[in-house]
Amino acid sequence: MTAQRTTPANARASGAPAPGDRAPGRPVVVAGGGLAGLATAVWLAEVGVSVTLVEKRGRLGGRTISFPVAGVDGLVDNGPHLVAGFYDALLRYVETIGTRNDLLWDAPPFAIRTGPDTLLGFDGGPSWLPLTLRRTLGALWLARLPIPLRDRPAALLAMARLVRAIAKPPPDLDDLTAAAWLRRIGAPTSLREIQLDQLVIGLLNEKPERVSASMFVQTLRVGAQRALTGNARSMDAVWPRVPLHDLFVGPAVTFLRERGATVITGNGVEDLQLDDDTVRGVRLSDGTAIDAAAVVLAVPPWALSRLMDRGPLGTYEHFAPVRKIEAAPISTVYVWLDRPLGNLRLAENLRDCTIEWVFDTSGMYGRTDEHCYGLAVSASWDVLHIGHDAFVEAAMASLRQHYPAFAEATVLHTHVIHQPQATFSAQPGFDDLRLPARTPIEGLFLAGDWTATGLPSTMEAAADGAERAVSEVLSHLRVGGSR
Ligand SMILES: Cc1cc2nc3c(=O)[nH]c(=O)nc-3n(C[C@H](O)[C@H](O)[C@H](O)COP(=O)(O)OP(=O)(O)OC[C@H]3O[C@@H](n4cnc5c(N)ncnc54)[C@H](O)[C@@H]3O)c2cc1C
Repeated sequence: MTAQRTTPANARASGAPAPGDRAPGRPVVVAGGGLAGLATAVWLAEVGVSVTLVEKRGRLGGRTISFPVAGVDGLVDNGPHLVAGFYDALLRYVETIGTRNDLLWDAPPFAIRTGPDTLLGFDGGPSWLPLTLRRTLGALWLARLPIPLRDRPAALLAMARLVRAIAKPPPDLDDLTAAAWLRRIGAPTSLREIQLDQLVIGLLNEKPERVSASMFVQTLRVGAQRALTGNARSMDAVWPRVPLHDLFVGPAVTFLRERGATVITGNGVEDLQLDDDTVRGVRLSDGTAIDAAAVVLAVPPWALSRLMDRGPLGTYEHFAPVRKIEAAPISTVYVWLDRPLGNLRLAENLRDCTIEWVFDTSGMYGRTDEHCYGLAVSASWDVLHIGHDAFVEAAMASLRQHYPAFAEATVLHTHVIHQPQATFSAQPGFDDLRLPARTPIEGLFLAGDWTATGLPSTMEAAADGAERAVSEVLSHLRVGGSR
């Protein structure tokens, strides 16, 4: 479905309440204090809608949460997060809450470390050239990938087929896994091992053997489309310069409170109150009932399934696909060293070891007084159950293998975070499981990274889904005349 987007500006033009023009009465209840719920609440409050944000956990942030870790200065994120230059909706969100300057724009995140002396980096192109040309020339790094001569014709042909599929996706892509499709276009194993498989995993947080080819091509297509419509920095990496709490959460709460919104934590939505296919309100875990002008469920599919088990939602066939959505894990070891690791880029993608990504967290924050690195494994099925000590040991072995400076370093702290439900797992057929913001229940809307945005399980999908939900809520409020 293509949603008619309502930005705060055009919402005001089309008759939505203006900021400061809040009417008393029933609020819009937003359930879920992750990025999707926060963005929905913020954008509704921005145009004067009365909002109550309800989060089940004691802290806001959802899958972009930060917390204190014993013995360590400041907050630690639940895992390193990369913002891409084409994250238009997310960038609008940080603009709204005033934290856009807390992002650090970098070159595209393609830096492959194959050993202690070899970093195959996309250097962004010579700095004296215009940006678009620089990025185009920079892409020639692909030609420098160590692919045997005999595989090069097939690699070139496969890349040409990939580009053609991005321009015009074949119709049966959602029936295939990415691995099956890469075989079909003749991608040689050498190209897959050095680049394509990691690209799939990095973009989609799922193994090529499990993830839908459609999601892979569609993700590249969105980036390319946004690049071609004038965003030369579309593929660039954009790093948080502060913990995710300070980037996405704390300033949003201030924004909401300044506009009279209510924020409730540690008390989830337990059930919906429905009357004749119309939502009337919610009941919270502590028994409190809230009458609502509309309800937005900005919760992940597995939480929505639980709501379906408990109440009337489960009787609607419309929501049944949600039960089939599976999750995929990410595992991270944060390590604090007494000295720099010797990385050349803020994020480096390792080969032939357990750890896939090394993120220089302190470097992103511009800190020279500490040396904290986020060592991450996407689609971490292989390490999820090996135990903390074994995972830390494997992570240290990865650093030893790739960074000579690590041999001299003292490890000051480590902190392991396994997130079994980090993202959705977009397996073949996934396109049919996603639901739009509007539901068959009057006044009930959905938001979240898993809703029908066409995007992978990312912060951009969460913010994009929030925009779609806001647009639907505003037209519902205008038609119903109730807030
Ligand atoms: C370790 C890790 C690394 C990641 N890396 C990246 C990355 O590099 N780039 C990127 O773009 N994305 C990344 N992601 C994915 C990204 O974080 C998510 O896609 C996005 O944050 C999802 O936001 P959301 O609001 O849709 O869902 P969530 O963040 O899950 O928010 C849903 C909220 O709803 C709450 N909730 C559930 N049930 C109820 C209820 N009944 N009542 C009230 N509240 C309820 C939950 O507690 C939660 O706070 C990563 C995720 C993880 C975990």
